[in-house]
Amino acid sequence: MIEDMDFENRIVSPSFTSVEDDAEITLRPKTLSEYIGQDKVKDNLSIYIEAAKKRGECLDHVLLYGPPGLGKTTLAGIIAREMGVNIRVTSGPAIEKQGDLVAILTALNDGDVLFIDEIHRLSRNIEEILYPAMEDFSLDIILGKGPSARSIRLDVPRFTLVGATTRSGQLTAPLRDRFGVLLRLDLYTPEQLGQIVTRSAGILGIQIDRDGALEIASRARGTPRIANRLLKRVRDIAEIQFDGRITETVAREALKRFEIDELGLDDFDRRMLKAIITNYGGGPVGLETLSAAVGEEAVTIEDVYEPYLMQIGFLSRTPRGRCVTAACYEHLGLAPTGQQQLI
Ligand code: ADP
Repeated sequence: MIEDMDFENRIVSPSFTSVEDDAEITLRPKTLSEYIGQDKVKDNLSIYIEAAKKRGECLDHVLLYGPPGLGKTTLAGIIAREMGVNIRVTSGPAIEKQGDLVAILTALNDGDVLFIDEIHRLSRNIEEILYPAMEDFSLDIILGKGPSARSIRLDVPRFTLVGATTRSGQLTAPLRDRFGVLLRLDLYTPEQLGQIVTRSAGILGIQIDRDGALEIASRARGTPRIANRLLKRVRDIAEIQFDGRITETVAREALKRFEIDELGLDDFDRRMLKAIITNYGGGPVGLETLSAAVGEEAVTIEDVYEPYLMQIGFLSRTPRGRCVTAACYEHLGLAPTGQQQLI
């Protein structure tokens, strides 16, 4: 059993941490042209935005899905800006009662964007309020109780709902069906992350060269939020131990100190992969069993760790469970025992 780790404080956690703050907001691109990568998503969105503007209508409801830290909140802000409307930001767990959602919807201005992060975590009775609001911009409100209860219909301003979730499969079918536009965000390539690091360094006034940016980018697990966080941490080392400028050597030195290897794996990844190897002969091991063995929630393993480990070809999902690959053994410097099948 791997001892508990403070997941939120992992330097390579793609989740937003409360200390992270204002810098994240400053670094957010504000227009589609500033938004790096995700070309297919940008192409589609710009067509839909232009068409909606031409017709003088609000944009159809948009569902953004993909692992945390890839730019879903940023895109919601860009949609509002490009449409020339305001954005109201909330999240599934923050809406506790039907009345909370009614209050939010009735306070919107015509055409506004309502962004609901983690939309899969809305409770069922709140989702039901959302259906007529999304379809007809109206609410069905029940007044009173028992036989004297009656339902009234209330109009709300026209709005665009932008929902974000880590997986579209987590959404109930009736909710998913009410989105006109479904867009999947993919992990970024090291080159794209290199551009993001260079852009962020420019905004934060950090001196960095191309190789320094690429070094950070290649260890950021395909995730802009991690790339920006590594940049800020590397800057600290560059200022204290070097002349303040981030070069390849400085980045390498700093990342070694944070125990992030050249592929972006940290201690937790290594221990999880080693647990599959030592406890389960390299796999297959079921997700729930793995979750118990490493002391991490199954959904976190699935949404946060696995996408990157699968992208770099270290882990595969089979119908019988998770298996590590030959490339993973090699990276960890372990020899397969011969019992397990290598993929
Ligand atoms: P999510 O909502 O998917 O968790 P965010 O939109 O909060 O992710 O993005 C996290 C950070 O990553 C933002 O502060 C932003 O600076 C940066 N970022 C995300 N996507 C991009 C991008 N395509 N180009 C530049 N920076 C990005």
